[in-house]
Amino acid sequence: MTLGQVPLSVNKFSAILLDMDGVLFHGNQALEHAIEFMDSILHIPHCFITNNPILSPQQVADKLEYLGFHRPDSESIITSGEATALWLSEQKKSFHFYAVGAQGLFDALNKFGHFDQQYADYVVIGEGAGIDYKSLTTGINLIIKQKAKLVSTNPDTTVDGVIDGKHIVLPGGGSLVAPFIAATGQQPVTIGKPFPLLYEMAFKKLGVKALDCLMIGDRPDTDIKGAAKLGMKTALVRTGRFLPNDLLPVDCPVPDWDVLNLHQLQQIF
Ligand SMILES: [Mg+2]
Repeated sequence: MTLGQVPLSVNKFSAILLDMDGVLFHGNQALEHAIEFMDSILHIPHCFITNNPILSPQQVADKLEYLGFHRPDSESIITSGEATALWLSEQKKSFHFYAVGAQGLFDALNKFGHFDQQYADYVVIGEGAGIDYKSLTTGINLIIKQKAKLVSTNPDTTVDGVIDGKHIVLPGGGSLVAPFIAATGQQPVTIGKPFPLLYEMAFKKLGVKALDCLMIGDRPDTDIKGAAKLGMKTALVRTGRFLPNDLLPVDCPVPDWDVLNLHQLQQIF
C-alpha cells in the first residue's frame, strides 16, 4: 500500500467496476489472490469492463469459471465489442458495417447490424487477428469512396498476451486502426476506456452513479484515467502493465489507492 493512503471503506461504494486482464488473470491463469478477492466482493454489485473485444461476454464468463472464479452473469460483462455494437445501433438502426477483428466483435455487431463489404455505414476495427492487405484495402475504399465512418473498439496501442507460457506484447486496437487512419486521413470514433461509454453502460446496468463507484484496474492510461474523469474513486493494482516500483505516466491522474495486488486492496477494504 502506498504510504499515506487512507483506509478504503467499501461501504462508501454502491458498486465496483473491474478491469480483467492484469487484474484477475494473465492469459489463461488466474492471478494470485484474485479468486479470493472476487469471493469477498460477491455481495457488492459489480461489473467487468474490458477494452478487449476478442471474446463475447458469454465466453468471458466461461473463461472466469474455468479459471476458478465464481461464474459471473454474462450481463455483468461489458466488452468494447458489445459497447461498440450498442453505440452504433444508437447512431443508426440496422446499420451496415464492415469489420476487421475477432469473432467476439462480429458476434456483437451482428446483433444490431448487417455485415456488408459493398456498402457500409461504419468500418469497425477491433483488437485481435484479422487485419491484412485485403481487409485494409476493403476498409479504406469504403471510407474514401462511400464515406463510411471509421470506428475503433479501443485505443490501447499494445496489450499483454501469453503464448506458450511466455509473456508477449501484442498490437492493441490503437495500433490496428492506425493504417486506416494513415490511408484515409480520418480520425476514428474510439469506444473503449478511457472514453466514457463502457463505464456509463456499467452505471446504467447497475443503477448507480459514478461518484458512488470504485474502479479497479491495472492501467493508469485507460482504466484509471477514464474513471477519474467521471468522478469515480480508483484503485490501481500492480499486477498487470505496471509492476511495483514502475513510475506512473506523468499525464495520468494519481489513483486513490495504489496497491501491489488484490490481496492488499482487500486488506484495506
Ligand atoms: Mg488490464
